[in-house]
Order: sequence, then C-alpha cells, then structure tokens
Amino acid sequence: MMTPQRKIIHVDMDAFYASVEMRDFPEYRDIPIAVGGNGPRSVLCTCNYLAREYGVRSAMPASRAKVLCPNLKIVRGRMSVYQEVSAKIREIFSRYTKIIEPLSLDEAYLDVTGCLLFNGSATLIAEDIRATIFKELQLTASAGIAPIKYLAKIASDLNKPDGQYVITPNQVSSFIDSMPLSKIPGVGKVTYKKLQDSGLAFGRDIKALDEVSLIRQFGKLGRSLWYKCHGDDNRAIVTQRIRKSVGVERTFADDIANIEELAAYMKQQLIPELKLRAKKYLSTREISKLGIKVKFKDFHQTTKEFKYHQFDEGIFNTLLEEGLARGEGKAVRLLGVHIGLGESAPTHQQFEFILE
Ligand SMILES: [Mg+2]
Repeated sequence: MMTPQRKIIHVDMDAFYASVEMRDFPEYRDIPIAVGGNGPRSVLCTCNYLAREYGVRSAMPASRAKVLCPNLKIVRGRMSVYQEVSAKIREIFSRYTKIIEPLSLDEAYLDVTGCLLFNGSATLIAEDIRATIFKELQLTASAGIAPIKYLAKIASDLNKPDGQYVITPNQVSSFIDSMPLSKIPGVGKVTYKKLQDSGLAFGRDIKALDEVSLIRQFGKLGRSLWYKCHGDDNRAIVTQRIRKSVGVERTFADDIANIEELAAYMKQQLIPELKLRAKKYLSTREISKLGIKVKFKDFHQTTKEFKYHQFDEGIFNTLLEEGLARGEGKAVRLLGVHIGLGESAPTHQQFEFILE
C-alpha cells in the first residue's frame, strides 16, 4: 500500500537575531548591522541583509566584517529576547500542527499532513503561518513546502527573504534532477568537492548510478545520497532509530585561532542552540555525557567527551581547552558541542534545566 504523501513545511526566519534588533530599535533599520560581541576577537552570530550586500556573513570574525563594511554597527545579542520570540513563533506553529521539529531558534520543520485548514493546502498554510508571524511579531519568515523534509529545507532558501517556494509531488523528480548536490543538507564544501571529482554534480548524476557502486565509493554518504535523490527520504525521516546524542556544530567563515573567541562563540551561540535542540529528548532521556568536537584548518578532527549527567558550561569550557591543546595552536574551522543521551529517565536537575 502507498503511504500517504506527506506535507512538510520548513519555516526559516529571515536574518533572525538582526531582524529582532531592527524591530526593537528603529535606528538600526536603515543601516548595516550585525549581532555579536563587539571586541576585535568576536565572531558574528548573524547580520542584516544590508550588511550582507557588503559581503558580511554569519560566523565571520568581527574584525574581518569591519574591513568589508566599515560602517557596520555591531550590537550585542540579547539571547533571552530571541528565546522568547522563538517560543512565540513555536506557539504560532502549534496552531497548525503538533508535529514540529525545531532545528534552531529560528528554523523548524512542520508536518502539516493532518492539518485541515485551507482544505489541506500546504501552500496556503505556509502563507498563513508567515502572515501570522508578521502580524503578531513584526518579523518576516521564509518557507519551503515539499513532500520530503530535506527538499522543504532547500526550498525555503529559494525565495528568501519573505518568500516561499513549493515543490509539489509531481515536481520532485525534475527538481532533484537539476539540484546541485551542494544544496543537500549535510553535503559541505569538502564532500561536494569529492563528489565533483567523481563527476557527480547534480541529483540526476546520482540517479544515473546504482546504489551498490555509490555505497562502494562513498559508504554511508553514498547510500543517503541515493535515497535522497530518488525522492525516498522516508528512511532518513520516519525511522525511529534511538538517538544516541544530540549536537550543534558550525563551520566558520574564516578559521579562528583565538581560544577566547572560540569559547565566547561556544557560550553565546552553540550552547543555547544545543539546549534548545536537546529539550525534546530530555523529558524522557537522561544526559549521559558532554562533548565537544573541533576540526582544525588542516581538517584534522578531534572529539573530547566527559561522562556527566547534567548540563555544565564549565565542563564544556574544559573540554574545549583540552580539545584545542591537541591542535597545538592550529586554527579551527569547525566547532561543535553535543550531549550523549542515555537510556534512563532524566534526573531531577535535568528537569529544572528543561523548565529554565
Ligand atoms: Mg534563519
């Protein structure tokens, strides 16, 4: 029996932190601004579209951004405000569906297969969600609508900002044919280069190969690409494999060598995101360990973990120091934090963290 076609909406707020600042402080509305620490060693969290015209990007060192855009106004982030706004956005989502998977403070997948509003039109539901967010929060969002999760995520980027893009079930196959493989979430620069070197650039190139030779050449990645490009992403989505860990990682626009800069980025950006992502697991699972991952500029990668059953920023800091020591001063291109998920029920302290 055919499983019913799923309707997925990926909602992504436009330049989220920066947009909240522009909303709350009118003097920021017509100038290039970025959110991040102001010190010369800080890394930007995000920036508005005016700043992007100068080449400023998220995860870029403030010093480099200032060179590209000397008039850039860097404002301190107000994480608690962003979290509050994010909770309001989530509440708006919940009026349409209970199946919500947040990816970060400003991004989520919504499964609206069972939503009866607008005669079940996911296109109209997405329009209404975006209109409601704008009406109630004065912020713009973009959306991608597709029968498959990862395609919805790709689609939300296509008419950004303040737009949406629909891939109907009938369009899936042709969309994938001409889709550059670099668009697939999880295919980074390095992986893409490897694929290109083997003559694989678009979805159709993957479709032309057979599964076995792809797996032989690329292992797990090959298998996942094969399924994704055949529009059969259900495996990746529906499988209720027990998750062993949850994490957040980010590749920097420029490698960073300074430890304080890295520690500040971890504290201000990665840990709040990890807490948010971890929430849904921590109502039923305990924390089994804390960990960090560092990839140095020569792509040497290291992981440091510590068995612990609570969220503790001090431990993350220590792990970071130890991880960085292994690089002997080499600059860092990627930094990640994660927690392990144990089998047992959460402890009392964890519950306090969830309610925080
Ligand atoms: Mg966003």
